[in-house]
Amino acid sequence: MQALPHSTSLPDGHAPRADHAIDQLAALTAQRDREMLDVSLAQGVMELLGANSVGVYRLLGQEGEARHWMCGGLARPGQLTISDSPWADVDTLSREADHPARQQVLNSRALTQSELPCTTVEDASHRFVAVLPLMVELGSPGVLEVHTDKPLPPGALRPIQTLLKVFANFQNLLESSQRDSLTGLLNRQSFDATFMKATMPIVEEGAAERGGSERRTAPVTGYWLGVVDIDHFKRVNDGFGHLIGDEVLVLLARIMRQSFRHYDRLYRFGGEEFVVLLRAGSEEDAMGAFERFRLHVMGYPFPQVQHVTVSIGVSAVQHHETPNGAFSRADQAVYQAKHQGRNQVICYEAEVRSGAMQSEQSHIGDVELF
Ligand code: GH3
Ligand code: MG
Ligand code: MG
Repeated sequence: MQALPHSTSLPDGHAPRADHAIDQLAALTAQRDREMLDVSLAQGVMELLGANSVGVYRLLGQEGEARHWMCGGLARPGQLTISDSPWADVDTLSREADHPARQQVLNSRALTQSELPCTTVEDASHRFVAVLPLMVELGSPGVLEVHTDKPLPPGALRPIQTLLKVFANFQNLLESSQRDSLTGLLNRQSFDATFMKATMPIVEEGAAERGGSERRTAPVTGYWLGVVDIDHFKRVNDGFGHLIGDEVLVLLARIMRQSFRHYDRLYRFGGEEFVVLLRAGSEEDAMGAFERFRLHVMGYPFPQVQHVTVSIGVSAVQHHETPNGAFSRADQAVYQAKHQGRNQVICYEAEVRSGAMQSEQSHIGDVELF
């Protein structure tokens, strides 16, 4: 965890000083890691307000579906700032409706400040809660929750609201540089950095909302890289025009979000080619996930075009390998899928085991992708 520069807490009854707020802004905008931004924000606001706890909560899931709150950062005085594990199973997270104040703030985009009934708080230091919205255009919507033992003095939240506006602008800028503008999926430029980070060894922590005291050992898991290519997409453009072609790409991205888990990384690599970095326990599980996605696409009634299918090539990500190695093997598997009639999922390793494809072990790492 990265710590922010230390700044002293304010005496009770005083609003944060402008120079402290500017220090926090400088620390926040030095951050390039989207996921660490929430941790920095929670810590910065806690230090500015001298609050008993400050949490950043993001709403995971698509609108209109069951959504869950994930803690992006929970800061408490004298304790390490923690967050929910990015690999958390959504069923272990609290549901959207469990936190009506957060829901209300997100819908109205207005600040709420209230005193919690004593039965719902474990100690008196958390009696007062202020909830502020995070104005994000890309990425998950979220709120900032500030717990204090006394009501915050009038005006104390104003500098925080300004800080949040700058935070939102900065986050939007960071998100837009890493996302594809048509589909909102991660872009190819962000692939290398997110691939390396996602495939680093995992130390699993308990859910932050349970106080971070519980630690679970990570189940043995691995990563699979899937290259998804739309079948005969040229025919869609030629037959229905580019606008309809673009709509198919947007809908395909939506089906991807609905088919994979919140922690799987979804990219548009350009044109009609997509990449999924999938976390799974076994080759069978990974293939099951890609097969389910393929079926979702096949069964989706695309406007005008009606039927669209995809060919998918999958390969297991090796320890410490470059993104190019995994991509190259998955790409060969896509080629095989196209060759065998399209609308299918092919696993590189399974093909090599059966002798249908030759292992390129000796070339791994040499293949230049870009
Ligand atoms: P295959 O099944 O072998 O993959 O055939 P295909 O037609 O999908 O593949 P091919 O690579 O020949 O054609 C890809 C087409 O994708 C070419 C181009 O018209 C279209 N395309 C690429 N980028 C975009 C885009 O951003 N928007 C739209 N509408 N079409 C695009
Ligand atoms: Mg293609
Ligand atoms: Mg294609």
